[in-house]
Amino acid sequence: MQHTQNKKDLHLSQLLAEFPRKHLIIATTIIITVFFFLLVMPSQIAQAKRISQPINLELTSIETAATAPQAEPEHPWKEVVIRKGDNLSTIFQRAALSAGDVYDVVNKSKDSKSLLRLQPGQKLAFQVDTEGNLQALQHIHNLMESTLFKREGDKFDTVHIQRDPEIRRNYKSAVISSSLFRAAQKSGLSQNLIMELANIFGGVIDFVYDVRAGDSFTLLFEEHYLDDAKMANGPILAAQFTNRGEVYTAYRYVYDDGSVGYFNDKGISMRKAFLRAPLDFTRISSSFNLKRLHPIFKTNKPHRGIDYAASTGTPVYAAGDGRVSKSGYSKANGNYVFISHGTQYETKYLHLHKRGVKRGQKIKQQQIIGWVGSTGYATGPHLHYEFLVNGVHRNPRTILNKLPKAKSIAAGDKERFFSQISGFQTQLAAYVNRQNLASASQLSNSSSL
Ligand SMILES: [Zn+2]
Repeated sequence: MQHTQNKKDLHLSQLLAEFPRKHLIIATTIIITVFFFLLVMPSQIAQAKRISQPINLELTSIETAATAPQAEPEHPWKEVVIRKGDNLSTIFQRAALSAGDVYDVVNKSKDSKSLLRLQPGQKLAFQVDTEGNLQALQHIHNLMESTLFKREGDKFDTVHIQRDPEIRRNYKSAVISSSLFRAAQKSGLSQNLIMELANIFGGVIDFVYDVRAGDSFTLLFEEHYLDDAKMANGPILAAQFTNRGEVYTAYRYVYDDGSVGYFNDKGISMRKAFLRAPLDFTRISSSFNLKRLHPIFKTNKPHRGIDYAASTGTPVYAAGDGRVSKSGYSKANGNYVFISHGTQYETKYLHLHKRGVKRGQKIKQQQIIGWVGSTGYATGPHLHYEFLVNGVHRNPRTILNKLPKAKSIAAGDKERFFSQISGFQTQLAAYVNRQNLASASQLSNSSSL
């Protein structure tokens, strides 16, 4: 988080030095954003805080907690960090506690199993009274989880403590000038979010061949905070990708059973039977078009597929669910994998550096089946990809448009779906509008300079 902040500052100061007027626009944008957060976010933040407030694992907060009404006379806590090779006895020794105390906690408490599996880096906190008797022990698994053993008479009560992170929402957007990968990096997106973005749209956009300069994307995603420190990114809630003037928007939907999917605003799934490009395009950082091999598709021999130029070792994905029909090596194909998808469809992947699957193996869409290479008749590292329908080679880039449509949200779930995504829709739209306004005024501004 701090890192991003620094970057922002640097960026700002450069801008200020170059274009004083931009300063105004940026300041305005910041003010609008702050107002927006003040207007929209408080209820969420407040809710998250309520959840995370009662429990605090920091030593200082444990002391605070001990001042709660039901607490007995307060005794100081002592914290010990678990080292490699430590066990309960050695740690208790370090804390000047006896073997009897170890015995009591382990045998006179419920659920003391975790104490017998201490991990280096975890902490134990002890509360000892003036007579040197152990009153409470807290096993701090990590920032989010701990177990408290508290003396009650001659036993120890066990309480599992789970802290929930405070969930905030954040936006990122970028215009692509050389590659998706670079645009995402420049906008400060983590590698995981780039992957997630690419996965969401992998069924509708061929990120290798179809992305152009001027394409853009916007993400609304969760960030998880603990005590104002960012712990992790949460999921993408909504994403918009503008590809050659066509706008694709995807919203996250959580089913009753907890499974997750991304759908457009009409409830049509973004996940299709086949990926548009069967390889990890986030790893392809070269510029598009000229540097890349052109898509070649000819029905006459010898070339009956598409070539995706990518560096050796780039993961190759199964385009769809299926079963490995062949996995082998030949002089022409090099390392190759064939996958059958039901009775009608088959996909083929040639010149692999290494194969990752065996014949007969069941495969899920986007599972890694091998890595790009230049084995067999290949002039450089690339993936040669073929798509067959009923044994006949078809152009993978156009055949997908003729395949059956992806499934939609069931009629009975529509109401639940729309109520779940409506908040995301409003927030995403508001943000995109602000971005458009800002870039429009920036444009008119710089043209007058
Ligand atoms: Zn080829």
